[in-house]
Amino acid sequence: MLEIRDLVCGYGHVTALKGISIEVREGQLVALVGANGAGKSTTLRAISGLVPARSGAIRFAGHDITGSDPRRVLGHGIAHCPEGRRVFPQMSVAENLAMGAYQRRDPAGIAADLARVYGEFPRLAERRGQSAGTLSGGEQQMLAIGRALMARPKLVLFDEPSLGLAPNIVERMFAVIRAICDKGTTVLLVEQNAFAALELCDYAYLLETGRIVLAGQGSTLISNPHVRKAYLGG
Ligand code: ATP
Repeated sequence: MLEIRDLVCGYGHVTALKGISIEVREGQLVALVGANGAGKSTTLRAISGLVPARSGAIRFAGHDITGSDPRRVLGHGIAHCPEGRRVFPQMSVAENLAMGAYQRRDPAGIAADLARVYGEFPRLAERRGQSAGTLSGGEQQMLAIGRALMARPKLVLFDEPSLGLAPNIVERMFAVIRAICDKGTTVLLVEQNAFAALELCDYAYLLETGRIVLAGQGSTLISNPHVRKAYLGG
């Protein structure tokens, strides 16, 4: 479904991605793990059209989306749930969710998806009129996830959804992401929480300073000596 080939990206003199290749098959939950600064967020930004490719190609569902702007990428069915949640703090929960559907023109479908999001996250339903900035970190993360789902995407890109959340909320959030995939939406998940991501995923890539150094099933990476030593505490 998503195929990245030899992608090179950077910022000024920094080359953040030095020719990475990644494949995400339809229906899979694929994790991209690695340390701080490895280039995980840059990979997602490149897919979304927020960072230009210097070379290489990104294909999605048969289309070449290399160099497409973010609106067009969303139009192809890729939603981005960014790091730090980035909800609109002054807007209400309901308005934030409506923003997720801004490119859609099917009111009945939008209403059905809104009901589904509220069903999945009852806290958001209870707080639908409240401004998003007053929500807890966990609630804001759920709102960011709900907003991404309101686009009815084929693929969702999650950037560090566990960042800054309490452990019990992290667990619930990973369960929600697994459920999103199990219900038919393909997922590319970026995480520093390597163990949780590797346990959750169908397939994983390890990124180190802009290069993919390992790929395989989550269980294979969990038992890899290098991964254990460098990312899982031995
Ligand atoms: P993190 O978990 O910290 O987000 P990451 O693996 O997602 O890490 P990136 O954010 O993709 O890493 O960063 C990759 C490299 O690009 C790093 O060297 C980083 O310093 C650099 N970088 C990221 N964003 C910018 C920017 N806006 N301007 C300049 N350099 C940047």
